[in-house]
Amino acid sequence: MSEKRGTIPPDHLRYHSLMTRERLAECMQQGIVVPEGLAAHGRAEAFDYLIGERTTESALLAEETAAAMLLMADHPVISVNGNTAALAAGAIRDLQEASGAFVEVNLFHRTEYRMNAIGRLLEERGVRLLTGEAAPLLPLSHDRAWCLREGIYAADVVLVPLEDGDRCAALCSMGKRVITIDLNPLSRTAQTATLTIIDELTRALPGITEACRDLTRDECTSLISSLDNRYFLRSALEEIGERIRDALD
Ligand code: ATP
Repeated sequence: MSEKRGTIPPDHLRYHSLMTRERLAECMQQGIVVPEGLAAHGRAEAFDYLIGERTTESALLAEETAAAMLLMADHPVISVNGNTAALAAGAIRDLQEASGAFVEVNLFHRTEYRMNAIGRLLEERGVRLLTGEAAPLLPLSHDRAWCLREGIYAADVVLVPLEDGDRCAALCSMGKRVITIDLNPLSRTAQTATLTIIDELTRALPGITEACRDLTRDECTSLISSLDNRYFLRSALEEIGERIRDALD
């Protein structure tokens, strides 16, 4: 497990970032992405710039650890929001196939229209979605408490890319092991999750998928037993610090 995965060649970076913005703008017009999602993406772009727009060694290890957690879980669930569906529907399908995880749409700004539009987008890309009657089962106020009893509520391991701090904390308080993907190592989500992957969503998901295909059971056990989230947070902050220090060299 040594070769780098999910890294975009440097000359494609600017093009990739413009395409991503166009894609998010288009999905906002369709009501899949909300304006708050664009603001969150802008924050992530700034952190990606600081981290060098690449998958770092420590993020790669976090992706392998995430794969191990999903493969060894009894009831793994991937929670998908609007930005994740807009940017990575195909990558979610691939990860579902490789990990065997359930996929549930779970939105901060939950409306029937958005639930349907996002569900349709995912299903068109081949994702098999959990369906059923949602209920306010999480210890949170408002719409954010809603989820499926046989989905996130029953999960022992939940992958929640681009999550907000309150829901991440609520899931952890229910005894779940929470994996997040978040480029901001200082966010409450990054600091609260069991495992934080500090990498861009569209690099991180294929990285987890590839590891799911490669890992043996023994490797999974060893990755899980050596999980230290402070190490992942500290490594990202050190990478950022180094880049800032060397910026004028
Ligand atoms: P928190 O509530 O956790 O303190 P926040 O208020 O910034 O953080 P949100 O806006 O709900 O929370 O979270 C979105 C997070 O997802 C942000 O930290 C942002 O950096 C990250 N993010 C957004 N888009 C991407 C992406 N494409 N790849 C990786 N991370 C992303």
